[in-house]
Amino acid sequence: MGFSSLGLNQYVLNAVSELGYSEPTPIQRQAIPVILANQDVMAGAQTGTGKTAAFALPILHQLTECSAAQSQGQTKPAIRALILTPTRELAQQVYNSFVGYGQHSSVRVALAYGGVSINNQIKAMRQGADIVVATPGRLLDLIYKKAVELGQLKTLVFDEADRMLDMGFIDEINRILKFVPTDRQTLLFSATFDQAIFALSKTLLHSPQLIEVDARNTAASQVEQMVYEVDADRKRELISHLIGARNWHQVLIFTRTRHGADLLASEMCKDGIKTQSIHGDKSQGARERVLEEFIQGKIRALVATDVAARGLDISQLQYVINYELPHIAEDYIHRIGRTGRAGSEGLAISLLSPDEKWMLEEIEVLLNTRLPQQWLPGYEPDLTKVVEVSRKNSRAAQKRRAKQRAFGDDTGSRRGKGSGKRKTK
Ligand code: AMP
Repeated sequence: MGFSSLGLNQYVLNAVSELGYSEPTPIQRQAIPVILANQDVMAGAQTGTGKTAAFALPILHQLTECSAAQSQGQTKPAIRALILTPTRELAQQVYNSFVGYGQHSSVRVALAYGGVSINNQIKAMRQGADIVVATPGRLLDLIYKKAVELGQLKTLVFDEADRMLDMGFIDEINRILKFVPTDRQTLLFSATFDQAIFALSKTLLHSPQLIEVDARNTAASQVEQMVYEVDADRKRELISHLIGARNWHQVLIFTRTRHGADLLASEMCKDGIKTQSIHGDKSQGARERVLEEFIQGKIRALVATDVAARGLDISQLQYVINYELPHIAEDYIHRIGRTGRAGSEGLAISLLSPDEKWMLEEIEVLLNTRLPQQWLPGYEPDLTKVVEVSRKNSRAAQKRRAKQRAFGDDTGSRRGKGSGKRKTK
């Protein structure tokens, strides 16, 4: 089934065919007709599934139809669609997608995110836009400065809603909602679902159509996942070895901390592998520069923190390495979703030190699968250390269980308010 059967107009179809998309992806096939029918949508689609086009194409269709009907004489468009994203990288990527998909229409798109001067964004907003892509904090600044007026909004999209909640944007979201008409279409996209997302959906959506293309909380099926057990102090050496011996170019590596990202990048450079880091302490300009160098192949490895890597869309990225496992199991899904995008294959390697076993267990619970562990010859873990760590871990687990019994908490969750996060389905 091609795009033409979905009910989209010629402007949009031309753009899609010029981009070389021959078939809609499953999320596009399911979501586009529902959005065109003006229904609210709650969609579970992880990154790399084509979810941006799933909402961008019908929005562009609706706006080109409506601007054709009422364009005469109107010079400054009103904002009809707002897309909220958790990070500036994702905002930039969604903006680029709208510009690409809207290239044959006269629809104007504007972008707003923090970390850069607000003045140019105010200017752009005052010139008028039909569609605004924004991060919540900066959008509020623009609203308060009266550079943005949302009274005529027709469609509101939450992209990566789970991450927005994880990043604590709920207050900003509630404040933004006060400026948005209640009579609107709302589309919520989330890679993972939990109680917090369902609670949010109840306040935002009216009789939404629930669309799921993959089983909830599953990792991209085209991504091969491997876990190497290795001592923490040999992880860098192992990564440099893998990249060098297997001649990998363009490898995205995840660390938990910004400092850890910088340190690993500088150590890998000493190993002769051109590496840079990307994280929230770096200016927007520096992040964009590094990303561009990575995409162009000028640097071989990019070390990123979870937040900085959100929204990175590097087509054909084949390798993701978890230098450290994430504390939040859902981040694992987001991390490995950077590879295996739009049907291509990917390999995700996790380096597991003995103290991280509980994190792997949480990931396995979330994915509802086992990720077999193996040793890489020459990098086998030191078993005397493993025994010591597992003794400590089991003492810590005993204490945790005793505490849970004492407080009547049987969820076993480390996430406090997000105990529902441990749901597997
Ligand atoms: P997303 O999940 O929106 O981040 O999209 C992931 C990647 O898939 C992007 O590079 C898109 O350009 C690409 N893409 C989206 N839809 C299609 C399609 N129908 N056919 C081929 N590639 C697509």
